[in-house]
Amino acid sequence: MDKNLLKAVYSPEDFRERGHRLIDELANHLEDKIQEKSNNAIDWNIPKKELVFWENFLYNGDTSHFFREILGRTTQVHHPKYIGHQVSPTAPITALSAMVSALLNNGMAIYEMGMAPSAIERVVINKLCDKIGYDSSSGGFLTSGGTLANLTALLSARKAKVSHDIWNKGHKEQLGIMVSEEAHYCIDRAAKIMGLGEKGIIKIPVTQNFKMDTSLLQTYFDKAKKEGITVFAIVGSAPSTATGVYDNLKAIGKFARSNNLWFHVDGAHGGAAIFSEKYARTVQGIEQADSVVIDGHKMMMMPTITTALLLKDDINATATFSQKADYLLTPTDHEDWYNSGKRTFECTKTMMSVHWYILLNTYGEEIFDEFLTRLYDMGHQFGIILQNDPQFELATPPESNIVCFRYTDSHLDTFALNQLNGHIRQSLLEDGEFYIVQTKLRGIHYLRTTIMNPFTTKEHLQQLLEKIKKYSKQI
Ligand SMILES: *Cc1c(COP(=O)(O)O)cnc(C)c1O
Repeated sequence: MDKNLLKAVYSPEDFRERGHRLIDELANHLEDKIQEKSNNAIDWNIPKKELVFWENFLYNGDTSHFFREILGRTTQVHHPKYIGHQVSPTAPITALSAMVSALLNNGMAIYEMGMAPSAIERVVINKLCDKIGYDSSSGGFLTSGGTLANLTALLSARKAKVSHDIWNKGHKEQLGIMVSEEAHYCIDRAAKIMGLGEKGIIKIPVTQNFKMDTSLLQTYFDKAKKEGITVFAIVGSAPSTATGVYDNLKAIGKFARSNNLWFHVDGAHGGAAIFSEKYARTVQGIEQADSVVIDGHKMMMMPTITTALLLKDDINATATFSQKADYLLTPTDHEDWYNSGKRTFECTKTMMSVHWYILLNTYGEEIFDEFLTRLYDMGHQFGIILQNDPQFELATPPESNIVCFRYTDSHLDTFALNQLNGHIRQSLLEDGEFYIVQTKLRGIHYLRTTIMNPFTTKEHLQQLLEKIKKYSKQI
């Protein structure tokens, strides 16, 4: 055993030297991608080859090349031709806050294991609640991802709306939630985890434009009731992931109130519109929600993974995981905001609040407005470009930075077009200049883009369409 190994691991000098080198490498990387000095958004490699590379590198690779290898083997979210999934091109300053969190390793479950980040979290939560339009009884916390936050919100809903003590005693009756058929799959998963089963997920059909059809709510609710289902919550998407279309939160909120249901807004992607002067209208009615989820790592420029779960009444945050029945909570329990573990699913979590805070502190909340507004504007512009080109067809007019479309050709039937668009997307992936994804809506295969990079321009999008036309002729 090498006695000096531990000393080497914790050597401040070694850290300083490697750190400076890495920051230089990352800054070069950023420059290279943002300014498009290299052309590709992804250098695609098949999983098997990638695996062989890393198996080999473990024993034969030179550690000093490790980070560089990773930089070359990643999807380049900072490249303006990355127009794929919904993760942020991180604001570089949050890479620094992430490093602080990694080194300090505050456990966060209790206040003593994260004094500064716990207080910072409260400041961030209050800011978000304020932007939503909640009053001073609101609250919430940060947690690891929209998936977990949605599950937690539904647990809060069940605790608040179902009168008996399910947490301790379980339940026999059929419980249910109402949700659009276009909602993110994690809502379905959360409901299944909660034991609601297929029957407990009441899927509301969508309109032609993929919005929850709110004219059907009463009918579906009454039908569920007749079947003996105790419906306790309804979920609105802001927007839904596949299409980027917002549900009518005002109408859903009204329905929830008149039927005493918990109203949850899944704003993982676009809840950040609360910061946008221009697009706040997309989330009109959000202030009526009992709970709201907003991802920091999607439309707010933060590294994965950090999500805000905001509650109209902060009491529900403490009640959710309380082993005691609600009525046994003392007033001090309610004020115990600084012991994170009582409120979150996680025990240990990262000091994620520092990312939110450093952006607010350094650039002000206007930065969230600028980022989202710029990207939504581009989404609308892309929609117009597509509408004016007879070779393309939009799935629905874009309401955000998510745009689904397909290449069309009047000589081909649906089946052939589906195949063609699938091939186009595969060719784009293997080519690597652009990174876009795909989705199926009502049996039709669409190319799916999310404009996540504020430096993506109309010209980039036009180049993408030219490339698609070129491939469609080759296939
Ligand atoms: C991305 C997304 C989720 C899942 O959030 P994660 O942070 O990826 O766990 C949930 N709902 C919607 C609408 C989303 O866009």
